[in-house]
Amino acid sequence: MATANCTACGRQIKDPISIKRGMGPICYARYMAELDKKEQEEEKQLELLPFDDDIICRRTLNGPQFNIPQRFVKHSPSGMEWGYGGSGPADFALNILALFVGLEKAEELYQEFKSRFVATLPFEGGVIKKTDIMNWLKEKGIKRGDDWLEDIRCHVQG
Ligand SMILES: [Zn+2]
Repeated sequence: MATANCTACGRQIKDPISIKRGMGPICYARYMAELDKKEQEEEKQLELLPFDDDIICRRTLNGPQFNIPQRFVKHSPSGMEWGYGGSGPADFALNILALFVGLEKAEELYQEFKSRFVATLPFEGGVIKKTDIMNWLKEKGIKRGDDWLEDIRCHVQG
């Protein structure tokens, strides 16, 4: 009788079907579950909305959608969020500010920005206006001209 070893755990397998797929039934079930999970996670990675200087977020059947990428993951590996004061909104705030003022300055300001702009967004989504962000930053003593939007667009696409 032919035997082989499971490619996942190394145990001996004898069942012809197991030998053919190279895994015992338990490892195979685990492998398929992993594949499923991976697929679901990939589906969750929605395309970005187009970026036109204002920050946009909205809910879809597949989850939250944004027009900026989560370039920095500090609090929430499972993604950015809004409408409350938790870790997902903290990462949204950090990533918005990092676009406007760079990561170092963003680290100083993002919790305040979160309370002011991100936690207050309606659950279904909304817009944070570029001009509101610029004015808020001006209050914080940070002034930059419109030329800096070029930078931002570049980061959003990259
Ligand atoms: Zn196995």
